[in-house]
Amino acid sequence: MTINLISDTVTKPDEGMLQAMMQAEVGDDVFKGDPTMNALEERVAKMFGKEAALFFPSGTMANQTAIKIHTQPGEQLIADKYAHIFNYEGGGVSFNSGVSCRLLDGDRGMITATQVEAAINPPDFYHSPLTTLVCLENTTNKGGGACYDFEEIIKIREVCDRHGLGFHLDGARLWNAMVKTGYSPEQYGKVFDTISVCFSKGLGCPVGSMLVGSKEMMDKALRIRKIFGGGMRQVGYLAAAVHYALDHNRQRLAEDHRRAAEIAEVLKDCDFVKSIAPFETNILIFSVKDHIDEALFMSSLKEADIHISSLGKGSLRIVTHKDYTEEMHRLLLQKLKQVAI
Ligand SMILES: *Cc1c(COP(=O)(O)O)cnc(C)c1O
Repeated sequence: MTINLISDTVTKPDEGMLQAMMQAEVGDDVFKGDPTMNALEERVAKMFGKEAALFFPSGTMANQTAIKIHTQPGEQLIADKYAHIFNYEGGGVSFNSGVSCRLLDGDRGMITATQVEAAINPPDFYHSPLTTLVCLENTTNKGGGACYDFEEIIKIREVCDRHGLGFHLDGARLWNAMVKTGYSPEQYGKVFDTISVCFSKGLGCPVGSMLVGSKEMMDKALRIRKIFGGGMRQVGYLAAAVHYALDHNRQRLAEDHRRAAEIAEVLKDCDFVKSIAPFETNILIFSVKDHIDEALFMSSLKEADIHISSLGKGSLRIVTHKDYTEEMHRLLLQKLKQVAI
């Protein structure tokens, strides 16, 4: 049995989701004529208490569009040094928006209001780039699935208000954060100007992300999405998968969190483990002891048909997800105890 814990993006649509997709009523979404997508955008906008929502083929495109609508070339945004928008979107912030990133040294990918306020360039000091946007990530990816303290988010919002900055949330895994902390989509919708969420991760859809915000911002986003080449035609098939996932796959994320915690519990007692990073949701980062060759360790796991990813420098990552079943979980826990290295 193959156990793939490389990412929560490896899931495949299940029977119920495929059925929903097959039965979708579709139209041309470039002409706003796809009823299933129109209903989905309305549903997600409402869920977050926002005026509008726009579907994207990827989380990257949703984030890059958000950055584009919040900024002008030459300006600067503030984010944590681990931010996906900076590290894993191909340099899109500078390429697409001509914007620089002021990276802060946060805790597991999370920054504070005090740090943000100190990083804002004085607007009348024309030698420095003008700071116009703050981007947070929740849960954090490179930070190990950490969830922001909601009170800190509110404090950062206050800083943004005082300085007239836009406030964007990269919520690729916000579904995990919401299940973990109990805060609702409306609560997040109230604090952020724009939020991107992924459906192709924990929720188990094959494709898709959504950006939510004001009507005015989403009208601008529609134009940018077109420029980025993200206008798609009969996307109702994809929207049907998302409707299905929102109905069936949100609460079950708690299972992914439980399984990650149980893996950590077993790893704690494994000889090859040096340390386990604090974990909260479905991402588990740990490191192997210094004398262990990481490549050798990974290949011995592969021999046991266990697949995880390396973050470099002896740091390894496990991500639990919908297609990681209880049966696989029991087997993995057993196999981990037997790994000889
Ligand atoms: C996965 C991810 C994205 C978007 O990734 P795509 O592969 O472009 O959908 C954005 N932000 C974070 C934090 C992510 O983990």
